[in-house]
Amino acid sequence: MSYEVAVVHTVEEMRAFVRARRAAGERIGLAPTMGALHDGHLSLVAEARRHAERVIATIFVNPTQFGPNEDFSRYPRTLAADCEKLASVAADLVFAPAVEEMYREGFCTTVTLEGPAKADLEDRFRPTHFAGVATVVAKLLNQAQADVAVFGEKDYQQLLVVRQMARDLDIGTRILAAPTLRDPDGLAMSSRNIYLSKEDRARAPALYRALSEAAARIAEGEVIGHVMGETREAIVGAGFDIDYVEARHAETLARVARRLDGPIRLLAAARLGATRLIDNVAVPNT
Ligand code: AMP
Repeated sequence: MSYEVAVVHTVEEMRAFVRARRAAGERIGLAPTMGALHDGHLSLVAEARRHAERVIATIFVNPTQFGPNEDFSRYPRTLAADCEKLASVAADLVFAPAVEEMYREGFCTTVTLEGPAKADLEDRFRPTHFAGVATVVAKLLNQAQADVAVFGEKDYQQLLVVRQMARDLDIGTRILAAPTLRDPDGLAMSSRNIYLSKEDRARAPALYRALSEAAARIAEGEVIGHVMGETREAIVGAGFDIDYVEARHAETLARVARRLDGPIRLLAAARLGATRLIDNVAVPNT
């Protein structure tokens, strides 16, 4: 049976949808994305569905989270294909605002962050990124007033930043995490994987492989500093230029030296040619 998903472009239309569904006693789940959807995004919709009768997917390539030398203008925009995919997982509404709808003339407010946003990880390489993310997510959460909103562990630091922001600003929406979906060879699905050359695509799974091996070794009790040094060597050996490859506390992102300092998360960002990949894994039993 073919099914079409309704698409709205204004905050007021989305709010009207939410009001009507709420009046019918239904809960609302939100899955915020930048589009160019893959199965990882669709898994967020599925997770939202477990907690809500109605799921809204948002598609907005948010200019304020891109740095001046990043790929905002060439970020893939595939709204028609995205809507087909969202229809296939029975999303109830797509909110796809224009930049002018989200940032009206005179817009001048930004969320200021500390804590997990200042962990010397993504923030070191993308210093304005999380302020842009937190501001647009705060807007989306206020606009939708959803019961739950789902974010991927793929962007682990972002997940912690959003959780902290929602807690600090008393946003009523519950923030849920969804695990990272991967291609069969282990590469984390990402809208940016399409930028990889054939050769780089073949090298790319080495990042996850190296992190997974490191996590297993740390879980077995090997010295973290030693394991992470060898992990960096393996990632460089596979052809990557490393931004960071780090073992951190899974909740605070503080540096960890011993397994008992955990729970531990291993986080990495590394470049293959012009494409920057990020990934992270949990260290089991920490
Ligand atoms: P993006 O469109 O890249 O901004 O991502 C939108 C949401 O999808 C974020 O919460 C991401 O963490 C999540 N996401 C991206 N890739 C994956 C993946 N491979 N598995 C699960 N969630 C993902």
